[in-house]
Amino acid sequence: MISSPLALTAGVETPMRKLLIAANWKMNLTPAEGRALLAALRANLDPDAATLVRDREVMVAPPFLAIPAAAQALAGSSIALGAQNVHFEPKGAFTGEISPAMLKFFGISYVIVGHSERRHIFHETDDLIAKRVAGAIANRLTPILCVGETLEQRDGGHTLETVLGQLENGLTGMKPEDASRVVVAYEPVWAIGTGRTATPEQAQTVHGAIRELLADSFGHDAANNIRILYGGSVTPDNIDSLAAKPDIDGALVGSASLTAESFARIVRAKLS
Ligand code: PEP
Repeated sequence: MISSPLALTAGVETPMRKLLIAANWKMNLTPAEGRALLAALRANLDPDAATLVRDREVMVAPPFLAIPAAAQALAGSSIALGAQNVHFEPKGAFTGEISPAMLKFFGISYVIVGHSERRHIFHETDDLIAKRVAGAIANRLTPILCVGETLEQRDGGHTLETVLGQLENGLTGMKPEDASRVVVAYEPVWAIGTGRTATPEQAQTVHGAIRELLADSFGHDAANNIRILYGGSVTPDNIDSLAAKPDIDGALVGSASLTAESFARIVRAKLS
């Protein structure tokens, strides 16, 4: 469940979305390698866990087969476990897919949905992605709905049209109380795994537009509760300036989540 207490600042209510730093291991790390990485991550973060959990949440999404080992390695930790995809049917003839209940058995709470690699390499459509998001919500899993434009779309001036279109389609028919439980990840395709990060200003512009659309579609309360993560070559060197932006509520991290030291530094993002 998304934690979004309201803080009173000089008599004005402002939302305090809890920062979410999420690791997407993609198709990397065997169960043994994943276990070793999580042990190193815990050794780094656990001494400060009591402070860190106050204003941030940490999640790791291993490949499906490494999930049981990761669940063991995270026992007693505040680090949440996620998966990199989920199907929306409870069971049946869906070769290669994984159901919500199968994930929940291992304590999964987050599922990444609509990642650009799923959209572009595996041709997942907005329609399929919307079903996965709705299926996750129906099964009390928190979907992280990924949206983002290609370089061609950005250069052609179609960034907002693309991103907002993916967002609208991904959340089709959703009630405000369900939409508040979704996490959105803005991941420009040209920034993923390329070492080329969006500037904090570029990211904030898109995040602000996403928040506006969420407010128009689901109301201000829901929009204020929904966390919008940035993803695309996030590193220890750029996380602080990204996290300082008002509508950037955390990060979805690929490459830099594969070593404990760099991911732990990202988790320790400075909040202005
Ligand atoms: C990702 O795959 O979601 C991602 C953001 O990757 P990277 O951090 O490597 O760009």
